[in-house]
Amino acid sequence: MLDFTIQNVLIAVSDDYATVDVQIVDNAIAAISPNLQVVGTAIDGKNKLLLPGFFNAHTHSSEMWQRGMMSVLPLELWLAELFDFAPLDPEQIYLSALGTAVETLLSGGTSVVDHLVLIPGLELETIAIATRAYREVGIRAFIAPLIQDESLSAGIPSGESAQTHEPYFRSTAATLEIIEEAVRQFHRPDEGVNILVAPTGIQLCTDALFAGCIELSDRYNLCRHSHLLETRAQEKLAQQKYGCTAVEHLKRIGYLSDRTTLAHCVWLNDADIAILTKTQSTVVHNPLSNLRLGSGIAPILKYRQAGVNVTFGCDGASSNDSQDLLEAIKIGSILHNVTDSDYQHWITPRQAVEMASLGGAKGLNLVDKLGSLTVGKQADLVLYDLTNLSLLPRTDPIGLLVLGRPSNVVNSAWVNGKQIVADGKVTTINVDGLRQELFNRSQWETKRKSETVAQIEAHYRTVMGL
Ligand SMILES: [Zn+2]
Repeated sequence: MLDFTIQNVLIAVSDDYATVDVQIVDNAIAAISPNLQVVGTAIDGKNKLLLPGFFNAHTHSSEMWQRGMMSVLPLELWLAELFDFAPLDPEQIYLSALGTAVETLLSGGTSVVDHLVLIPGLELETIAIATRAYREVGIRAFIAPLIQDESLSAGIPSGESAQTHEPYFRSTAATLEIIEEAVRQFHRPDEGVNILVAPTGIQLCTDALFAGCIELSDRYNLCRHSHLLETRAQEKLAQQKYGCTAVEHLKRIGYLSDRTTLAHCVWLNDADIAILTKTQSTVVHNPLSNLRLGSGIAPILKYRQAGVNVTFGCDGASSNDSQDLLEAIKIGSILHNVTDSDYQHWITPRQAVEMASLGGAKGLNLVDKLGSLTVGKQADLVLYDLTNLSLLPRTDPIGLLVLGRPSNVVNSAWVNGKQIVADGKVTTINVDGLRQELFNRSQWETKRKSETVAQIEAHYRTVMGL
C-alpha cells in the first residue's frame, strides 16, 4: 500500500505560497487542494515545503574516488591526471554510484544522469553494477555510458605541429554493440532505469560513433547526452576538425534534438545559440566544474533569453568536488549576475527551482511525467524541513533554499511514489555502512604525479598560447 496524503504542506503557487494537502495514488499525484480526505498513509507536512524533485543532470559517479585531490589544472590536463589514476574496480563503481545517489537525494535531487566512465574490458559489468546501486537506493537513474572512439591526445588541438594519435583500443562497432546490449539488458524506464546514448563529445568521437548513437537513439527511443564546448581548446579543435563550430557540425549530422542534453556549453556564439533554440536541445549547466577547471562562464542568461532550455548538473566529483545539487543551483544562478548588468535578466530563486526540476524533465523527454507538482504526474517529490536552522528565520522558503546555504534540510523524498528518504535519512540502504566502505577503501593522500600531464603539458601550453 503505497498511497499517501501529505497534509498541511506549503507549496509554491504563482508568486505566493499555499498550504494544501497532496494525495498520491498509484505512484502519481492524484489531488492538490486544502482539506482533502486522507488516502493511504497520512504524512505531516506542517512547516515543510514540498517541491518536485530536482535533476542532477550531469555527473560522473566514479570521480568520487579522486575528489578533493586533483591538481589545479584546466580540463585537458586534468583529464590526463584523472585517467592516470583511475584504475577502478567494479566494487568502487558500486560504492561511488551509491554515494552519488545519496548526496544527490539529500540535496533535493530525485534523478541523476550518470555519464558513467566504463572500465575497459568490463563495460557491461560497469553498467550492471551502477544500475544495481541506483536500483538499491531507489533514485531515478539515467545511465549514460561514456563512450569515445579516439584516444585522449586527440582531444587537444594540434596547432602548427602535425600530431598523430594512437588508435582507440576498441572499435567503433564494438562500442556501439556494447551500448545496444546495455539497452537490451538494463533500459527499463517504467522501473526508473534509463540508458542514454552518450558519446563524450566532438573532441574524442568520430562521426561514425555519433551516427551509430543517433541510430540507436531513434530505434530504442533513447535520450542523447554529450559534453559540448566545455573549453576554449574544444572550440579550436572543432574549427580544426570540421572547419565550422561544433554546434553547426552536430546539427549537420543530426545529433541535436528535443531529447538531447548537452553538458557545459561554455563556448558558443550567437549563431550556435540559435541552433540550440531551433533544435530544442537542452543545456546542462555545471557552474562549479566550469569554475574549478577554469573553463569559463557559460552564457546562461543568453540561453534563457533565446528560449533554450537550461538545467543544472554537479558534474563529476573530481571537478566540483561534491554532489551538492543545491550548491550547483545557487552558484549556477547568481554567477551570471556579473555577466549582464541588466538585472531584469538575472535568474530568480523560483526560476532556478523550475530550471532544476521542469528543465531536467524537458531535457530527458519526460515533461509529461515529471518536473512539477501537477495532478497526473509521477510522484518524484522532496519535502524540506523549514524549521531547520539554515532555513530560519521564516522569510521566503524558496529564496532561502536557493540563496542560503541549506544543510540537512531534506526531510523526505519519494521517487515514483516510493519513499526513500524519511526523517532526513535515506531508508533504502545502510549509509553508515557506505561511509565505512568509502573510508576503508581509501587513504589520505596528497602527493602523486601524473606522467601523462608531464608528457603533454608543453604542447598544451604552446597551442593555447601560454
Ligand atoms: Zn562531465
